[in-house]
Amino acid sequence: SVQPETFKSLLKAAAEQVIASAPELTSLDQAIGDGDHGTNMKRGFEAVLGKLDAISAQPLNEAFKAIGKTLVMTVGGASGPLYGSFFLAAGEALSQDKHLPDDLADVFGSGVDAVSARGRSQAGEKTMLDVLVPVLETLKAGAGQPDLIERVRITAAEAVERTVPMQATKGRASFLGARSVGHVDPGARSSCVLLHAVCAGLE
Ligand code: ADP
Ligand code: MG
Ligand code: MG
Repeated sequence: SVQPETFKSLLKAAAEQVIASAPELTSLDQAIGDGDHGTNMKRGFEAVLGKLDAISAQPLNEAFKAIGKTLVMTVGGASGPLYGSFFLAAGEALSQDKHLPDDLADVFGSGVDAVSARGRSQAGEKTMLDVLVPVLETLKAGAGQPDLIERVRITAAEAVERTVPMQATKGRASFLGARSVGHVDPGARSSCVLLHAVCAGLE
């Protein structure tokens, strides 16, 4: 099982990395959106940091749900309900019969499915799913392998770059049509920031 102190330090690192990335996320969103992704995510993860002790004192399933609720309430925009759904669904999976770290791919997959359902979206539409889906594939393929963390890190970084030539068909960037091509998707980048922080914390 995942130790509470480990969970707390991972959550703290993830939140701090997102907050530190706010200027970058905002500048990406200025190019193909409305320029608020950094401030949205910063607001949400500052709220998570503010509740860090209370969240990490709970059982893992409840902790994930508390993160999800906090993000839904504070992030706003399109990304708030989507990231919120991810953590709520992951928490729900842990409330059923799933456990970490053994069922990591299943738990992560529940989160990805929830984003897809909430966003009516799938990989290839230049969104956060273009990072989340490939990482899920890496988790499924690499379960139990010693280099899994490094594979996730590389998968996420490469997946972000693969959003550059994509044309957005979901979210605000889709309003730009062909002009959305040639830019990194902000939500893909924020997903990568979160995943890289967790990877770094696990090493
Ligand atoms: P908003 O677009 O409402 O201002 P944000 O800027 O916070 O919200 O978030 C934008 C990001 O949300 C996009 O870069 C994209 O990754 C993600 N996103 C938007 N719509 C969807 C969707 N339908 N499915 C998955 N992700 C989406
Ligand atoms: Mg935006
Ligand atoms: Mg907005």
